[in-house]
Amino acid sequence: MHFDPKTRILVVAAHPDDEILGCGGTLARAIRNGACVEVMFLSEGTSARFPLGEYDSQEYRTQAATRRKEAEEALKALGINEMSFCERLGCQFDTYPILSIVKDIENKMESYSPTMLFTHNPLEVNIDHRITYEAVEAACRPVHDWVPKEIYLFEVVCSGSWTFQSRFRPNVFVDISDVWEIKMKAWQCYKGEQKPYPFPRSQMGQETLARYRGISAGLEKAEAFCLVRKII
Ligand SMILES: [Zn+2]
Repeated sequence: MHFDPKTRILVVAAHPDDEILGCGGTLARAIRNGACVEVMFLSEGTSARFPLGEYDSQEYRTQAATRRKEAEEALKALGINEMSFCERLGCQFDTYPILSIVKDIENKMESYSPTMLFTHNPLEVNIDHRITYEAVEAACRPVHDWVPKEIYLFEVVCSGSWTFQSRFRPNVFVDISDVWEIKMKAWQCYKGEQKPYPFPRSQMGQETLARYRGISAGLEKAEAFCLVRKII
C-alpha cells in the first residue's frame, strides 16, 4: 500500500463511523503523504435504534442529523473534506434492490476515478456491512477504466468482534502507531457512539484490536486489511 499525491482513495462505508473504525489511521497516513480521500456513506446509521418503521419523528430526524454532523467533524479531524451521504435506513440494506447500491457506487467511481478503494469485509454480523461488500464487488467488475486497481477490505471492531466464528484473514498491516492520536481524535467526534470498555468500540476496545493486529506484524499498533485485488 503506497500513498502519494497521485493516490485517489475512495472509502465505501455502510454507516458514518465505519470509516474511522476500519481505516481511520490509514487514511491519516494517506493524507499526510498527499493522497486525495473521499468517503461515501451508504446510509444514515441511526434508524436501527428506533422501532422498525417509526422514523417519522423529530427525535429520529435530530439523531440522523447529529450523526451526519459528527461524521463531517470526524473526517475534518483527519483532513478530509470530501464525503457523500445516501438516505438508506441502517441495518435494512436487505430491503433495497442491491442494484440501487451498486449503481450509487458505480456513479461515484465514474465521477471520482479512485485508484484505491477501501470497504467492508463480508464476514461480520452487520447485514449492511455484508451487503456493502457484495455491492462493491459487483460495482468493481473490471470493465471500466474508472474501477480502482487496488481494493482492500477493512474490519469493524464490534460487528467483526461478535461473529460466532472469526474468519477475517488480513494480509496487509498498516502501521498506525504514530497516527493513533489522530484516529482517536476523529473517533471522539462521534459523541453518540462512545461507550465504556469492554464494549468493542470503546477506545480501549479499539486499542486492544490495534495492538493485537500490531503484534501479528511486529508493530506497536496496526490496522489490518485483506487485499482482494491489485492490478499492475
Ligand atoms: Zn457499520
